Amino acid sequence: MSDEGHMIPPRGAPNWLPGVMAPAEEDVVSCVSCGLCLPHCPTFRVTGRETASPRGRIFAMRAVMEGRAEVDDEFATMMDECLACRACETACPSGVPFGRMVEAARAQVEARRPLPERTARRLGIGWVLARPWAIAAMGAGLALSQATRLERLLPARFSRTAPRVGLRQLLTRVPDELGEGPTACVLTGCVMDVASRDVQAATMRAVAGAGFRAVRGQARGCCGALAMHHGHPEAAKEMARQRIAEFEGADVVVANAAGCSNHMKTWGHLLADDPEWGARAAKVAARVRDLLELDLHPIPGERGAVAVHDACHHVNGQDMRGPLREVLRRAGARPVEIPDDGRCCGAAGLYSVLQPELSGELRTQKARAIAASGATVVACANPGCAIQIANGLREIGAPVRVVHPAEYS
Ligand code: SF4
Ligand code: SF4
Repeated sequence: MSDEGHMIPPRGAPNWLPGVMAPAEEDVVSCVSCGLCLPHCPTFRVTGRETASPRGRIFAMRAVMEGRAEVDDEFATMMDECLACRACETACPSGVPFGRMVEAARAQVEARRPLPERTARRLGIGWVLARPWAIAAMGAGLALSQATRLERLLPARFSRTAPRVGLRQLLTRVPDELGEGPTACVLTGCVMDVASRDVQAATMRAVAGAGFRAVRGQARGCCGALAMHHGHPEAAKEMARQRIAEFEGADVVVANAAGCSNHMKTWGHLLADDPEWGARAAKVAARVRDLLELDLHPIPGERGAVAVHDACHHVNGQDMRGPLREVLRRAGARPVEIPDDGRCCGAAGLYSVLQPELSGELRTQKARAIAASGATVVACANPGCAIQIANGLREIGAPVRVVHPAEYS
């Protein structure tokens, strides 16, 4: 009985599926339900629903953890609608680690999906992204469908959110090695190596310009961030092991995408329980640098006003707001803030495909805010954001070009 005389439902055993990653109890109980994170949560701001807020999501996790609720459809919707942007984590005065909690909760949701759906997701997120030839084939298929306009036959949720892959992009040659100095192994990745090969080539120049022998990762493939983000930790671990084996000989490991660098820095934590890989993972993770953390020397020029889009995985994941502005200044540009309090653009991995309504609303809001900044160029250093923003700007007819800061090298 509580002080007010109400019955408190008895605590039962957790309803988490055994053997599957789940939110840690100490993380869940660290939330004091103050609600200070709510105004910072993009899904709460768009919907106004407590069930689409960080506090509501943590409340739901606690109910499952205490055996008072199940991982049912309602719970799945609450976790699926989250962008995992971690704006709540940055705003939270109690230090609640929401990012890792929602990733673990999603692993529980995925484990309970009907088999055909689970298998399809595992195939797309785990199997394709772990195989460079499959990623390349996907890129070629996308480029072909766009060149022949066959993409009009695809459902709108794909055609409106896919990157524009010009044949020129696919044919762009990226040097395997450039520069002199300590060895910096550069992640090839997945989306970036299909949609933005010119950025990949520019990244090699930028890393070499920062005083390294830039070596392009030869095994090629995804770092596992997308798999982790969407509730497939086992696939994420498999990809982490592949990349760690690839990078062990490097002095530093560089990623030019915020989502990748942020995730790769957590490899030690991800594989901590693995007796063979735990220590190796921690060692490589400690050498990971986001491209913007290097001492970059872009080619200076008269570049005018450039709007700055901060990727969530830079500001919320890595506390990195300054470096992008500094690189732009060094390149001769005048950084301009986007008038929307740095809200998420709604890309969030595959969120734009899986949650088209919420993502579409955030895409439009972001595009309008960029247009309102008055700049004709917007810089961002994450491929998901770049694709989402370019699509949003095209939708509202705003003539603003999207650039990656490496392109000034
Ligand atoms: S991660 Fe982003 S979308 Fe999810 S609850 Fe936190 S602020 Fe909201
Ligand atoms: S996550 Fe943090 S800010 Fe949000 S309700 Fe919980 S304690 Fe408060």
